Amino acid sequence: MKSRISLPTLMAIGMALGIVAGLMLPTLDWLYKPLGDLFIKLIRMVVVPLVLCTIIAGAASVGDLSKLGRVATKTLVYYLATTGIAVVIGLVFANIIDPGQGLDIATEGLKAKAKDAPPLVQVFLDIVPLNPIDGLAKGNMLQIIFFALIFGFGLSAIGEKGRPVIAFFDACGEVMIKVTNIVMYYAPIGVFGLIAVTAAKHGLDILLPLIKVIGVMYLAAVCHAFITYLPLVKASGVSLGLFFKMLSAPLLIAFTTCSSAAALSTNLIQVQKLGASKPVASFSIPLGNTINMDGTAVYLGVVAIFVAEIYGIAMPIDKQVQVLAMGVLASIGSVGVPGAGLIMSTIVFTQVGIPLEGIAIIAGIDRVMDMARTTLNVLGDATGAVVVSKWEGDLDLERGARFAREEEA
Ligand code: ASP
Repeated sequence: MKSRISLPTLMAIGMALGIVAGLMLPTLDWLYKPLGDLFIKLIRMVVVPLVLCTIIAGAASVGDLSKLGRVATKTLVYYLATTGIAVVIGLVFANIIDPGQGLDIATEGLKAKAKDAPPLVQVFLDIVPLNPIDGLAKGNMLQIIFFALIFGFGLSAIGEKGRPVIAFFDACGEVMIKVTNIVMYYAPIGVFGLIAVTAAKHGLDILLPLIKVIGVMYLAAVCHAFITYLPLVKASGVSLGLFFKMLSAPLLIAFTTCSSAAALSTNLIQVQKLGASKPVASFSIPLGNTINMDGTAVYLGVVAIFVAEIYGIAMPIDKQVQVLAMGVLASIGSVGVPGAGLIMSTIVFTQVGIPLEGIAIIAGIDRVMDMARTTLNVLGDATGAVVVSKWEGDLDLERGARFAREEEA
């Protein structure tokens, strides 16, 4: 029997109850934590087989290298442009609001270690797995995408003989979608556990002193969604109401888990329901999950100015341009797990001479910042799938409308 209350509503209820429970009964975090951890494990379990199977089946059925090249170019153009805009928006808001001005925080004795940016050649070489099983076992998304694409094209090249194998991967992909849907029944409880832990750990006494920088981050994130994504979605012909309705589940997962990798499978399923084409979505969503991190980019812009202000370091325009360039690179290199952006900020800080000890100031509120980052990261990928599908002439608007009708029925 179909529940009368939709899944996103149940998740929102779980979230609200989790906040109340975490704030009122913080000592029960031993109970909340396993509830949330179980959800993250269940949902991440699906990702590797789902991405592998959908890309193999997708590449084999497209079988056209030039189409893939076009989709890849358009996707990368979209990713780079929107990520650049994201850092700029973060910088602009932080410059206007000055979140670090007049803040008196003791910085002595704080320590943080820098993360070195890997050489660019190495980054590209690392996309090719020495052993595909190793890439799969480690969940290295770029290696998985690379191998799956090559395998899929090989499969289509052998013609008739490859058909049963294509059907096999196609069916496995569908199974993983089914499994995701089953796992999602647990989502309201998982979301409850995750948010309760956050609320229990981050009482108002931790958040209040830094409320200004948190506010700037959320404001800049919302602004990026309004200025950059929504006009693109609208221009693609998708109604904004439908867009948010379809994406509410992946966005809630992102907000509560702080892991875009955890939201990947639901995002991939929902953008296709919205009308994004299978070849575009199955390529751009997993890729975006790894390299398109607009929320992280906004954040890097905001915290660079914030920490520089606390230490009284001037940030003239040339330094801010460096933040922009490093912010884009660091967000590309970031991974979809909680706290990745915080580590990436060391790359930006080192580049422009902001003391790394500043990391310790923002570490205490990182989870709350990460909730906004991850939500925007996932929204950016979903928007990309819609925009590139439209650009390719593959966007099926009727499909989105049909799913909306079915869900209402
Ligand atoms: N947690 C973010 C994500 O999973 C990455 C970050 O920390 O910025 O997308």
